[in-house]
Amino acid sequence: MSKIFITRPYLPERKKLDAYIDKIYKSNWLTNNGPLVQEFEKRLSEYLGVKYILPVANGTLALMVAYKVLGLRGEVITTPFSFVATTSSLVWEGLKPVFADIDLQTFNIDPNEIEKHITDNTSAILPVHVFGNPCDTDSIQRIADKYNIKIVYDAAHAFGVKRNGKNILNYGDISILSFHATKLFHSIEGGAIIFKNKKYYKTAKAMINFGIEKGEITGVGINAKMNEFQAAMGLCNLDDADKILRNRKEMFSYYYENLNGVVQLQKFDPESYNYSYVPVMFKSEEELLKVEKALNEVEIFPRRYFYPSLNSVSVPQNEKKLISEDISKRILCLPTFYDLKVTEMDRCIDIIREALT
Ligand SMILES: *Cc1c(COP(=O)(O)O)cnc(C)c1O
Repeated sequence: MSKIFITRPYLPERKKLDAYIDKIYKSNWLTNNGPLVQEFEKRLSEYLGVKYILPVANGTLALMVAYKVLGLRGEVITTPFSFVATTSSLVWEGLKPVFADIDLQTFNIDPNEIEKHITDNTSAILPVHVFGNPCDTDSIQRIADKYNIKIVYDAAHAFGVKRNGKNILNYGDISILSFHATKLFHSIEGGAIIFKNKKYYKTAKAMINFGIEKGEITGVGINAKMNEFQAAMGLCNLDDADKILRNRKEMFSYYYENLNGVVQLQKFDPESYNYSYVPVMFKSEEELLKVEKALNEVEIFPRRYFYPSLNSVSVPQNEKKLISEDISKRILCLPTFYDLKVTEMDRCIDIIREALT
């Protein structure tokens, strides 16, 4: 039996990608805001329904540039239940992550916990739409308004998520996406920054190109540019995005029907979810380890997203984050990717059910 990993990058039709690569050979334009990156930016803006979006080299740089554009300093309140880049990007930029605990059911940052941690040094809130599940954006906005601080959403998982017909990327001052190969939608490596206003977009556009604007150095920048090959992959995958999203939902539903009652799932609104991951929660870490071992024995490799809780590793803080530490010990993400077969999901489901009886 073949190995099944947590994910497998989606590959578009080879012919279509080749046609874009032919274009690159003709234009001889490989990077520096080339024609394909410009086309990708326009298409993303239309597809996602966002006004100001800037494609960049990856999601981590997107976060770092977002902090710079907003001039963040001091402390940033964030979630301990996320991928390490959420926290490490802050530390890398000389900002202090202050962790607020999460909600037991949605796995997202708890607004009440955010407010408890605000000090005179807080300059922003950095929530994550965990597994594509939108945060309580209204409460978070109220807190930001009350204390006059910024919001950057790490929306790395939230491609294609809408609420009340509006894309989730339209909330906060800035949102970022990751287009890494393992994400639901990808451009090999890549990402994007989404801005509420045009001023930030323009500043960021210079920043990602060494601070150079129309040939002049206008400030300190970095190199966070997306290249033409990334854009070519992104353009191909964008054509297939609806298909990929539908496929994810079907897979999620299949797991859900067959594991409901056996494991606990994230609380979500079916209208505002992209089904990008299949996170299942066990009663205890012992139970999780037992299931993981049984799956590994038949060459199925789920992943412990997100383990451990980031407050216990990146910047050890004395304060415990009880819910995040508890949940991170009990969640396993099951394999889900475009060409995963029903028989493979069955193998996975059977082993889980067996291990738990
Ligand atoms: C993947 C991911 C990132 C980093 O994105 P890259 O494109 O891999 O740099 C940041 N935050 C979260 C929550 C992620 O899952």
